[in-house]
Amino acid sequence: MRVAVIGSGFAGVSTALQLLARGAEVALLDGSELRGRGIAYGRARPHHLLNVPADRMGLDPGDAGAFADWLGLSGGARGGFRPRAEYGRYLLDRLQAARREHGPALQVVDEDAHSLQRDDTGWRLHTNAGTTLQADAVVIAVGAPASSPARGATPAGVVADPWQPGALDGIAPDAEVLIVGTGLTMADLVLTLDSRNHRGRIVAISRRGLLPRPHPADGVVPQPLPEAAMTALEQGRLASAVRGFRRAVAAGAAPEALVDDLRGHTARAWRGWPLAVRQRFLRHLRPWWDTVRHRIPAQVAAELERLRARGRLEIAAARLEALSVDAGGVRATLRRRRSASAEARRFAAVLMATGLDGDVREAPLLAGLLSQGLAAADPTGLGLACTPEGQALDTNGRPVPGLFLVGALRRGECWESTAVAELRAQAAAVAALAAGNPADA
Ligand SMILES: Cc1cc2nc3c(=O)[nH]c(=O)nc-3n(C[C@H](O)[C@H](O)[C@H](O)COP(=O)(O)OP(=O)(O)OC[C@H]3O[C@@H](n4cnc5c(N)ncnc54)[C@H](O)[C@@H]3O)c2cc1C
Repeated sequence: MRVAVIGSGFAGVSTALQLLARGAEVALLDGSELRGRGIAYGRARPHHLLNVPADRMGLDPGDAGAFADWLGLSGGARGGFRPRAEYGRYLLDRLQAARREHGPALQVVDEDAHSLQRDDTGWRLHTNAGTTLQADAVVIAVGAPASSPARGATPAGVVADPWQPGALDGIAPDAEVLIVGTGLTMADLVLTLDSRNHRGRIVAISRRGLLPRPHPADGVVPQPLPEAAMTALEQGRLASAVRGFRRAVAAGAAPEALVDDLRGHTARAWRGWPLAVRQRFLRHLRPWWDTVRHRIPAQVAAELERLRARGRLEIAAARLEALSVDAGGVRATLRRRRSASAEARRFAAVLMATGLDGDVREAPLLAGLLSQGLAAADPTGLGLACTPEGQALDTNGRPVPGLFLVGALRRGECWESTAVAELRAQAAAVAALAAGNPADA
């Protein structure tokens, strides 16, 4: 069985290793300098930390402590938040070890997959460099498409993709900077600017101005939601579920403890909800859910607080209504939450940190599959339609033989498809299916 794995971020590497362990031959494709690590771990700077303790970041589902072992950590240090670049080195090291162990069974192709066609013998894959590969099955692990900041061309002074190497290089140390987004990417950008001795004021905005919550210092013991609230959640009665959640918090439960327990139930509840409920969740609850679910290390939270206290960082609940550029920089029209009027402010640079919710139709590989009817966009706008096992669905809702998804493209199907814990489980299950031995999925 020969399997092409497209994308070699965490999801692609993890899937490739699982496939090799099951005796498949693997072609692992990725044309970017991120290969072997992906965005989260390939572009991290030394001060960017993992958001998850080291002893939960192992590559394989059966061995969550493997990263902490690889680092030789013991005792309390195993629960620490290590640099993300270090995790990138761990992934590369595991990939190198697989190349040594499996020899020609692992073919690493430093090219992007550009198009896929299905024929009687399986899949024909074309790369952007003109290479053609044949495979029995294909796993798409390309992460989430980046969101476009605005329709049309990106004006000068606006950084659409702040992850690009050198993206912040043109920003003068005293420049006033607007960051659109107040989540994990914003935290990264603020720390990066600070590490470059940035002195200018940084304004970060999002609809509600919510910041990711810090990991509690003494850890979290997951705690179930009260039964009535859980039933309401499963039935898609979101307002009632939120009231039950608030009551539990008022009675002493930590929101983190409730959300950590919910993590194991989210996919089942999400799958049971009609589309309108999923859309309501995304519109009204997601910003709040993300702040509790995707937390930051306490030292990162303290750093943001220090900058706020010194007046160098302002977090505002506001919407970006318009951007224009003139000789004086970028003019941003902002409307604060619940304000009737908009205000115009001038910034030297605007950094887009709104996350990874881009349109699948803008990625050539995915657009090609959509146009052939071999894939369908999920109606939530989050990725592609697939079965709970990760097999892609065609435009008629039928599973496409030999075409699988791992990672953020599956969020529309199960919502919780972002972090290492979920992705390594998906990788193992998809590898078992793609390698033709689903019994050990
Ligand atoms: C800043 C940040 C920090 C995070 N921190 C944590 C953390 O601490 N713990 C945690 O559990 N999760 C964390 N996450 C979640 C993270 O999304 C996952 O852990 C994981 O890295 C996702 O990997 P991925 O392979 O699905 O996607 P990506 O990392 O996006 O990798 C996708 C890869 O596919 C390649 N690619 C794209 N298109 C093609 C194509 N057409 N052909 C070939 N290759 C292609 C890209 O070049 C890229 O290398 C973080 C995410 C971010 C953004």
